[in-house]
Amino acid sequence: MMDKTPALPPGSVIGIIGGGQLGRMSAIAAAKLGFKVHIFTQSVTDPAVDVAHNVTIASYNSTNALKEFAQAVDVITFEFENIPSDTLEYLTHDCSHYCFIRPSIYVLQTTQDRFKEKTFLTSQTSIPLAPWCFVTDQTSLSLAVEKLGFPFILKTSRNGYDGKGQRYVRNLEELNTAFTDLTPHPLIAESVVDFACELSVMVVRSHDGILRCFDTVQNYHWHGVLDMTLAPAPLTENISTEAQNIARTIAEALDLIGIMGVEMFLDRTGHLLVNEIAPRPHNSGHWTMDACPYDQFDMHIRAIAGLPLPHAVRHSDAIMKNLIGPEDMALLPRVLQTQGFIPHLYGKSIARPGRKMGHVNVLFPFGSLPGSLGIRNTLGVLATKTALEK
Ligand code: AMP
Repeated sequence: MMDKTPALPPGSVIGIIGGGQLGRMSAIAAAKLGFKVHIFTQSVTDPAVDVAHNVTIASYNSTNALKEFAQAVDVITFEFENIPSDTLEYLTHDCSHYCFIRPSIYVLQTTQDRFKEKTFLTSQTSIPLAPWCFVTDQTSLSLAVEKLGFPFILKTSRNGYDGKGQRYVRNLEELNTAFTDLTPHPLIAESVVDFACELSVMVVRSHDGILRCFDTVQNYHWHGVLDMTLAPAPLTENISTEAQNIARTIAEALDLIGIMGVEMFLDRTGHLLVNEIAPRPHNSGHWTMDACPYDQFDMHIRAIAGLPLPHAVRHSDAIMKNLIGPEDMALLPRVLQTQGFIPHLYGKSIARPGRKMGHVNVLFPFGSLPGSLGIRNTLGVLATKTALEK
């Protein structure tokens, strides 16, 4: 039976649905706080399986397995948001008397579907968004062309991640091809943002409403996949603070318990626009693992376990570089022998193109990142792709 005490004691069991690297790093953070971790995933080779106290390997649709899992843990959390809706409904309606479920089904259902996410964000009057339209058929597609004008981006509502499930369309021919190719329908049409840079903020909220925000960071993507993060973002304090305020507003409005990443664009006129929300630890928060006394995974576990939330301070500036696919893994020997490079590997044996294999953090003295002399050299070693290496 569920223990209704607000803070889970050491030895309690954190249940994580999903077995990827975010689950793996969450499990390590949970172990540091004295918790045991039970992973529920579909594949025994997943990265989180290696570091878990207990594992259930079953389909996310197996109600028997989900029920046993809920009975065996004290709180359930998620390391990815695309959990099947039936699974979320079953856990919430049939299992929530066994354990806490954090964040709630509302947070997951809102953020796993771009239409719901944009409808929710649009309902928050203070959240700025690029113009968008819901596309269900040829009529709504024509309306999108009328409202947005070419070019725009067509995105699937569900299952899009790392730039997958989206197409840049410049004319009617490209539009018709994209409309047929992109599945599942319905789709979202979104204006192309002429951005100066991409930013994100990790925000964490406790069950009693305490909010903490990590520094606003700048992200560099390569073919839609995060390649590198600069922490803090080299921006004016006003913009960084505004980005944090937007993230706080969203976390409050969702009644979030746990951590969430909010991705934004800074357009060339200096305005912030929210791109999307990830209701879990996020790749753009990996720098916190070495640059902060309490990282994003510590904070998430604390929030869902009802422990106090310390301030999300950083003691160092940092660059985080993802190790993606075979090209980046070729850098590993150099990374391993470079003093000050801190690698985090996910235990995946096959480096397929585009696969996130690990990341490297490099620290700089607090306040030194913008304009630091060390950065050019660091990037010379780390940057295989981003424009930063030039
Ligand atoms: P998403 O999966 O929506 O986060 O998109 C992945 C990447 O595509 C983003 O990080 C941007 O680099 C780019 N992108 C997505 N939407 C837009 C947009 N409306 N305007 C310009 N670039 C975009």
